[in-house]
Amino acid sequence: MDEISGGLKKAGFKGETDNSPATLDLYSHDASMFELRPKLVVKPTDGKDVATLVKYVAANKKKHPGLSVTARSAGTDMSGGAINNSIIVDFREHFTKIGKITSKNAQVQPGVLYRDFEPQTLAHDALMPTYPASRDLASVGGMVNNNSGGEKSLEYGKTEDFVKELSFVFADGVERTVKPLTKTELNKKMKQKDFEGQVYKELFKLVDDNYDEIKAAKPKVSKNSTGYNLWDVWDRETGVFDLTKLIVGAQGTLGFVTDIHFKLVPKRDHSGLLVLFMRGIDDLGEVIPKVLEHKPATFESFDDATMWLGIKFMPSFHKMLGWKGVIKLFLSFIPTGLTFWRGFPKLVLMVEFNGHSEDEVRDKVKALHRELSQHRARYEINGFEEDVTEGKAQKFWLMRRYSFQLLRSKVKDKHTAPFIDDFVVPPVYLTDFLPRLRKIIKKYKLFATIAGHMGDGNFHVIPLMKLEDPKDRKKILPAMKAVNNLVLKYHGSLSGEHNDGLVRGPWLEMMYGRSVLRLFRETKDIMDPENIFNPHKKAKADWEFSFGHIRDHF
Ligand SMILES: Cc1cc2nc3c(=O)[nH]c(=O)nc-3n(C[C@H](O)[C@H](O)[C@H](O)COP(=O)(O)OP(=O)(O)OC[C@H]3O[C@@H](n4cnc5c(N)ncnc54)[C@H](O)[C@@H]3O)c2cc1C
Repeated sequence: MDEISGGLKKAGFKGETDNSPATLDLYSHDASMFELRPKLVVKPTDGKDVATLVKYVAANKKKHPGLSVTARSAGTDMSGGAINNSIIVDFREHFTKIGKITSKNAQVQPGVLYRDFEPQTLAHDALMPTYPASRDLASVGGMVNNNSGGEKSLEYGKTEDFVKELSFVFADGVERTVKPLTKTELNKKMKQKDFEGQVYKELFKLVDDNYDEIKAAKPKVSKNSTGYNLWDVWDRETGVFDLTKLIVGAQGTLGFVTDIHFKLVPKRDHSGLLVLFMRGIDDLGEVIPKVLEHKPATFESFDDATMWLGIKFMPSFHKMLGWKGVIKLFLSFIPTGLTFWRGFPKLVLMVEFNGHSEDEVRDKVKALHRELSQHRARYEINGFEEDVTEGKAQKFWLMRRYSFQLLRSKVKDKHTAPFIDDFVVPPVYLTDFLPRLRKIIKKYKLFATIAGHMGDGNFHVIPLMKLEDPKDRKKILPAMKAVNNLVLKYHGSLSGEHNDGLVRGPWLEMMYGRSVLRLFRETKDIMDPENIFNPHKKAKADWEFSFGHIRDHF
């Protein structure tokens, strides 16, 4: 790699290059169960520098067939999207500028952490509402490239709905603006004699020739991060061709995002939470539609294992809250704990409402509470907790948002193995689906926490395993296939927000069929003819490669 480093410098690359063992170790992992050791880590300084890098790699690909570039922002990807075995391109170091923000729009570079971006939008009474549970760790670039979603996606949708325009480095090493085009603008682009013209011409032909098949392939769930969003690129009715829809969620397999224009929504002034402690999951089929009729802003859930974890490791929240905050948190838990005297709940449901005044929120919370209380005996709910002042609710949000982080950092003898971590099943099927899911978890003796976005039917099941033990590794493939089959039987999607990467890429054919997978692969070939961007992922993934790179030492 010294030759590559030297070559890059000669080509005018201005950023740092580093192949020290410590750096390569650090970039060998993301939040997935995989390990891939890069040969070089580079930190481009700006869009031009990224373009220089990509041009150099494209020009040297024939000489060095293993050469590739994989983008990385905060590295919290759970699918293995942010690791690879050639060059890792770090966007966290220099792409950290926040541009102009108004109450409606924001311009921001991809390496900015969401936690640094949010206060700037809130200063304009505005919000980019699709932040993930990893909101304190993740960058906005990772959110765009994974098409992330989170607790507010039930009301607002996913990141794809908020990207207005991107700066994007194409495979020919040129940075260009990508935004929705009218048919006249598209025709003009298609006449260009350069790589951009070729991309637009070939992609338009692909999505127009296969229009009905592509539209029919769109998963019938409220959120999806699998495959390429081909169905949203071209709309014959509106005449709009929008390449941002393809790039969002592509995990950097089609090119690199260097700048982002987001649409923002007004911040809601008040919110309130109704928490339901469920004794079992059998009543979910009736409870979920009742809750959704009330149009909550968020509808989240976590199981008893997650709750125990939160209680056991409560002191570890001191870094975030300070010790005074932890004591307050502990005290606020006492009344909740007392409601469990008749038994610990199997599932906690959190239903949040927004409004312009506290009274409006209180009315919404009370209306749902009243309706569910009428059926209480039937529904086996062992308690409710209301909070319309955003105070007491904190303990539940902490458990919901930080359970995966706690699992990763606190459980020492086993490791988180996210391989069934993000499926989506339309909520109407959950009563049938969840007992069958539990059966699979039991059959493979997986100790797993379950949390998720109940309103979307999007669940995060995170088994804890000894990944270095061949007996545990052997369980992964059959357990994953069993869950995938079950999800697809109920018309679901394998990922709502965490994306495909190494873990779900190999199963795209299972989900979409051979013909649609062929269209995904053609899309990749059009945008990235030399296969330089993030290989082995999404439409070009195969399980043998992925399985061969599961971590076996920690
Ligand atoms: C505790 C925890 C909770 C999580 N909860 C959620 C959740 O609720 N919802 C959710 O959606 N996800 C969740 N995730 C997964 C992850 O945090 C998010 O998807 C997040 O948005 C990724 O951001 P990142 O900056 O870490 O991206 P990275 O991990 O650095 O990258 C993510 C992907 O985007 C690509 N990429 C990064 N930057 C660029 C760029 N500039 N150009 C092109 N491609 C690029 C990478 O190659 C990779 O494929 C969670 C993860 C953890 C650890």
